[in-house]
Amino acid sequence: MNAMNDIMVITPAHLVCHEHSCAVEGDKYTMVRCRRCGEWFCPDHMDLDGEGVTMIRLLSDPKRKTYYQGMCLACATRQHG
Ligand SMILES: [Zn+2]
Ligand SMILES: [Zn+2]
Repeated sequence: MNAMNDIMVITPAHLVCHEHSCAVEGDKYTMVRCRRCGEWFCPDHMDLDGEGVTMIRLLSDPKRKTYYQGMCLACATRQHG
């Protein structure tokens, strides 16, 4: 059990995009978690053209819960310099 698998426990049902100019709200099924900073963003603020978004399936979870993981625009910009 690593930190990644614990996310379903620590993630609130109600999420707001971490981009401070953005007020999009959603839940863990509609929002995407940044693999780098660990914050949640709406799809508009994810780097969909780069690595894209991956569906993470929690195999250790009996209900096979899923969430989406990618890289936010801020982190993608930082990574490319
Ligand atoms: Zn990020
Ligand atoms: Zn957003």
